[in-house]
Amino acid sequence: MNVDTLREAALVISNSEYLIALTGAGISKESNIPTFRGEDGLWRTYDVMELATPSAFVRNPTLVWEWYEWRQGLISKCDPNPAHNTLVRWEERGLLKTLITQNVDGLHRRAGSTKVLEVHGDLWALKCSFCDYQGRLNKPASGIPACPLCGKHLRPDVVWFGESLDRAIMSQVYTELEKADACIVIGTSALVQPSASFPLIVKQRGGPIIEVNIEKTMLTSAVDFHLSGKAGEILPALDELLT
Ligand code: NAD
Ligand code: ZN
Repeated sequence: MNVDTLREAALVISNSEYLIALTGAGISKESNIPTFRGEDGLWRTYDVMELATPSAFVRNPTLVWEWYEWRQGLISKCDPNPAHNTLVRWEERGLLKTLITQNVDGLHRRAGSTKVLEVHGDLWALKCSFCDYQGRLNKPASGIPACPLCGKHLRPDVVWFGESLDRAIMSQVYTELEKADACIVIGTSALVQPSASFPLIVKQRGGPIIEVNIEKTMLTSAVDFHLSGKAGEILPALDELLT
């Protein structure tokens, strides 16, 4: 990693007035949570169409819940890493205004970030597809949870393939994107829309984009700074250089 590039990116962060962050599965990789598309990504091992679609849930709710139970078990044993913690510090300093995440692991909130918009939901949240019930699990599920109001199967409140994103959250996201004057994008392959184009909205309005990733992505050709390396190392290094 070129030290000058790191320094210039740190200067952009220091000078920003409305910095926002977009994070993906890569930021949680050093917390030992598998990404989706990486070398040991979840999609390489599992068939997503059998696990993360509304029709898969209708077909085989037991299998879908077993998968979520496994992921909840895994995540409950993981802790936030220095990248999550750096974003908490930046929020506390008033530097980071909003954190938009595609992650469903809840690690940003566990680390202490409060201004978080979870565009793909939260692995610990539950909802009923038949009534208005919404709830939360405080430990990994065990079997299929039943709705306390109507008795039907509850599902994880995450966005599955083929589903639209929550309107209220998206409206907040677009409001924040309109205000942002700089964007740091961490650990996302930028393949999933609409999140992949969020940074481009900031760029269109003249805001610089900083990308932190161990590899080049679909976004790399459009960014102002590509910081190549692990989020858990690059973010603390940027933090040290802030003025
Ligand atoms: P992705 O799996 O498509 O891409 C992960 C990206 O992170 C890759 O570009 C990879 O190069 C990069 N990366 C890996 N390790 C890194 C590290 N240590 N530091 C910096 N970058 C690193 O993930 P995505 O773009 O978030 O899209 C996948 C979808 O999967 C999202 O919708 C998300 O909801 C879901 N997902 C969430 C989790 C989670 O909550 N932790 C885990 C897997 C998938
Ligand atoms: Zn119900």
